[in-house]
Amino acid sequence: MGAKKTRKFKTEVQQLLHLIIHSLYSNQEIFVRELISNASDAIDKARFKEQTEPELFADDTDFHIRLAVDKEAKTFTITDNGIGMTFDEVNENIGTIAQSGTAAFMEALEKSKNETGLSPELIGQFGVGFYSAFIVADKVRLDTKAPGEEKGTRWESDGKGSYTVEEIDKEKRGTEITLYLRDAEEGDQDFTEEYVIKNIVKKHSDFVTYPVIMNCETSEPIPENEIIKDSEGKPVGDTFRKVKKDETLNSMKAIWAKAKDEVTEEEHKEFYKHISHNWDDPMEIIHKRFEGVTEYEVLMYIPSKAPFDMFRPERKHGMQLYCKRVFIMDDCKELLPEYLGFVQGVVDAPDLNLNVSREILQEDRLVRNIRKNLVKQVFSVLEGMEKDKYIEFYEEFAQALKAGIPTDFANKDRLAALLRYKTTKSGDNYVTLDEYIENMKEDQKEIYYLTGESLTSLANSPLLEALKAKDYEVLLMVDPIDEWVVQSLTEYKEKKLKSAEKGDLDVEKVDDDKKNEYSALLSFLKGKLEDKVKDVVVSNRLKDSVSCLSGDDWGMSAYMEKIMKASGQKTPEQKRVMEVNINHPVMEKIKGLFESDTTNPVLTDYSDLLYDIAVISEGGKLENPARFSSLLGDLMAKAI
Ligand code: ADP
Repeated sequence: MGAKKTRKFKTEVQQLLHLIIHSLYSNQEIFVRELISNASDAIDKARFKEQTEPELFADDTDFHIRLAVDKEAKTFTITDNGIGMTFDEVNENIGTIAQSGTAAFMEALEKSKNETGLSPELIGQFGVGFYSAFIVADKVRLDTKAPGEEKGTRWESDGKGSYTVEEIDKEKRGTEITLYLRDAEEGDQDFTEEYVIKNIVKKHSDFVTYPVIMNCETSEPIPENEIIKDSEGKPVGDTFRKVKKDETLNSMKAIWAKAKDEVTEEEHKEFYKHISHNWDDPMEIIHKRFEGVTEYEVLMYIPSKAPFDMFRPERKHGMQLYCKRVFIMDDCKELLPEYLGFVQGVVDAPDLNLNVSREILQEDRLVRNIRKNLVKQVFSVLEGMEKDKYIEFYEEFAQALKAGIPTDFANKDRLAALLRYKTTKSGDNYVTLDEYIENMKEDQKEIYYLTGESLTSLANSPLLEALKAKDYEVLLMVDPIDEWVVQSLTEYKEKKLKSAEKGDLDVEKVDDDKKNEYSALLSFLKGKLEDKVKDVVVSNRLKDSVSCLSGDDWGMSAYMEKIMKASGQKTPEQKRVMEVNINHPVMEKIKGLFESDTTNPVLTDYSDLLYDIAVISEGGKLENPARFSSLLGDLMAKAI
């Protein structure tokens, strides 16, 4: 048998434990829910494995969770006959932070730190799970055995920096966790009281699909013939006696199987927390039974907060699949497209084969049908949301919806209708694409947008001057993912989406004769700026500014280029076009200079300045800011 080993907690676990103990102190009782949740998950896994390897479980198929309290020893014990853990699994799962997003979590943790410490929601998102035991216990012992294993494993810790692991003899499969409770302080609940535990289970874990059993003290009538009676036949002494009896503390009703109006809001909240491991309340509840050729039950929740790791590839998808109340799998990506992975819920489809594997699921017609219906349901709920509430949702989940545009071709238009943007005219309000179209000017043919980093710089971009002069509205897109949105959403309701920084805007005609007068100067400037720009042209975008940069219709936007560079990707060398405003007095002066002496060295300075101004006005970075400021300084000195 392996010797007992003492190991140190990873630093982040120590930090996490500290946070859990301190920030959840007022919410102590949740440890019961967390441990029951883990036990229930472990039984889910066991039942699933039992489908294919029944011999491993044959000795004990009466799946249940057992709770016990001991007033003398001051312990709380929870036992399950679920999947258990092997020695290696204990080492992997307990004492480290099991979820793979550790780094992401620690990042989020740092960001969220304020005077009051960590917000409980954040801990909730991480699923405090097992560690919640240390809220109430100063020592925790976990004994566990996986099916088919010879030996069990014991893990023990006081939660103060280290833990021990050792091999043990253990008869039964499953996990038993014993909490050595801290001395209760004034006002604390006493977790060795049966009624306290009963209430907590009822409140937080009623719907758990396996019986949560406790051997409770109750009183029962003493049988007639055992009652001591006096000469007149009247009982002397007790007619009731105290006995210990197994009681099932939860109703076990799968809440998705109940009639819609039978489920209370409280029950939904608790169930949502159970499946999502989140602590927020759901924003919307979708509870529906589909009937017809095949029948299935659906319960989905739209969370009110986006998880901190929404876009991490290792993040679990929110849907669970059941078949006749039997858990089949969680993280069921077949039930909803990736971008709707934030939706949390359950589908119970009795017609599915219990032995389904993921590979089969993808091909399964029923599953594909369910998926289509679920997507429709989610859309119709989002579409039906009251305006302000939808904005609340949108501010959390816009990125998820946007991710759907390039990936869910069939629903592109429906998704597009759910988008909201601020515009050059909307101030702080969001505008839908339909509203935009409604407000289009009579002669306006296209939907104009501009992408970039900040609303202020976009709203004031010189690229929009001509559009503004025509009183056209422009969508201001400041989310990096918008670049992918506009690449695939090229049209909405037969109106083309047009970037205000690309191609010909076709709004402002410039006089051809005047254009010709400038052609020599423009070729000269092009020669000077050869390394930086592809061309120098007369702008039909500018009204007040003197120069700007624009791209080809099919080229990359400036923002896209920036995003690519920031993410370390190589971008193809792409030069943009410098546009100059020939109605600007500066251009006229430069033209005058040029025509009197084409070799005047100051022309080089001016062409550089024209370019730098264009870069600055779109929020770009100058290659040589020192030269720019010295040129500008000289100019100011001359002008003043
Ligand atoms: P989470 O449940 O969020 O993954 P926990 O810290 O609660 O995080 O648990 C870590 C892991 O330990 C679980 O994912 C599971 O693999 C394992 N585990 C916890 N409790 C049990 C249990 N009762 N039976 C079997 N495995 C368990």
